[in-house]
Amino acid sequence: MTVCDVVILGAGPYGLSAAAHLRTIKGLDVRLFGQPMSFWAQKMPVGMLLRSNWTATQIADPNYELTLEAYQAATGARFSMPVPLDRFIDYGLWYQRHVVPDVDRRNVIRVEAHRKGFRVTLDDGETLLARRVVTATGIGSFVRRPAEFRDLPKEVATHSSEHQEFSKFSGKSVLIIGGGQSALESAALLHESGAQVEVISRQSHINWLGGWASKTLHHRLGKFTRNLLYAPTDVGPAGISQLVARPDLLRLLPRAVQDRLRKRAVRPAGARWLVNRLQNVPIRLSRSVVSVSVGARVKTRLDDGSERAVDHILLGTGYRVDISKYQFLAPELLESIDRFDGFPRLNRGLETSVPGLHILGAPAAWSFGPLMQFVSGAGYASRSLLRCIGGSEQNEPERAESSLAVARP
Ligand SMILES: Cc1cc2nc3c(=O)[nH]c(=O)nc-3n(C[C@H](O)[C@H](O)[C@H](O)COP(=O)(O)OP(=O)(O)OC[C@H]3O[C@@H](n4cnc5c(N)ncnc54)[C@H](O)[C@@H]3O)c2cc1C
Repeated sequence: MTVCDVVILGAGPYGLSAAAHLRTIKGLDVRLFGQPMSFWAQKMPVGMLLRSNWTATQIADPNYELTLEAYQAATGARFSMPVPLDRFIDYGLWYQRHVVPDVDRRNVIRVEAHRKGFRVTLDDGETLLARRVVTATGIGSFVRRPAEFRDLPKEVATHSSEHQEFSKFSGKSVLIIGGGQSALESAALLHESGAQVEVISRQSHINWLGGWASKTLHHRLGKFTRNLLYAPTDVGPAGISQLVARPDLLRLLPRAVQDRLRKRAVRPAGARWLVNRLQNVPIRLSRSVVSVSVGARVKTRLDDGSERAVDHILLGTGYRVDISKYQFLAPELLESIDRFDGFPRLNRGLETSVPGLHILGAPAAWSFGPLMQFVSGAGYASRSLLRCIGGSEQNEPERAESSLAVARP
């Protein structure tokens, strides 16, 4: 069996950044598995614009070299804010070619505990033995389908992650459930594709980001005060943004305060540039669906007694972290991970209660705060991982044998 030091699962922003950082440890055999940037390329709609700002859209690398500016200079690509999805995907692939040209595109289907670490099985049946496993597999497994829509067939109700483009809905009526960025941006794209769209949200109002108040605040405050209130990581409102950017500090606060800050920093909201695009789309607030039935069309009854009959329901209902949905985790291994409400309780180095098993990205948000749900958190996660693994490697100089040749960047 092939033996290596570290196996990383997932080649999205967190996995790529982790690989870039860990490969600075001399002699450490680090393998990265998965299709690079595939969540962004396959689960987000064509034409989408990133909501995070310029600095928060950089994938962190140890030398601060692989920036969006460096990508533009190297490729001649021209774009500004908001960053278009296709540009971000291409930037991620450019980053990958620099730091992990030898990424192995196979998926991992099983991770099991082994007396020397972990046995990792790939989708073609090959197995490896790894001393450490870093999972950076994102939120793709955590699609949230509220109970009232769970049993509906895919022909009549789908989640926003199931569509890359909406032209098939031209001339059709679509009811969108949700009031966050996914729901609102899908509504704009569907409307522009010629669908009749209506949005139903439980929220009493839509939180529009970058509005008059925040723009005035940004301009009037001046650079110094602005930088004092907002961190470049761009997660959370004034002041809270700085706290969220420092997970080590955030972790010292009482649990209830951490939970409140997490909710406040990532409440459902829409980017300001969607307002004009949604001018002709009805948005019903403080409403929820109480029943759904399927006939020639999908009939929904709302809590105000009104009814809708539409061709399709689109769920912009987001994601809910629950690592038991990571099917590659063997049941015995999953049981050994200390968890709360679906999240793993992580220690420094984003290590689970199972030594050598690290979990990066959104599942780390309970332990390290909402920064972990965004691209801009990859820098903190990777540096923390590097310190943890780098430190223990110094005490453990003997490397695993490897029978595979690894091309290093
Ligand atoms: C519609 C939408 C818009 C968003 N916009 C923004 C934004 O503007 N800015 C921002 O910062 N964040 C945004 N996010 C959040 C975004 O998902 C995260 O910031 C980002 O994806 C985190 O990177 P990641 O590497 O953790 O996950 P991902 O990018 O999802 O990468 C995980 C990778 O792991 C792979 N994988 C899964 N299982 C396996 C396996 N068993 N073996 C091998 N590989 C596997 C997946 O295919 C995927 O490629 C958005 C999310 C959504 C849904």
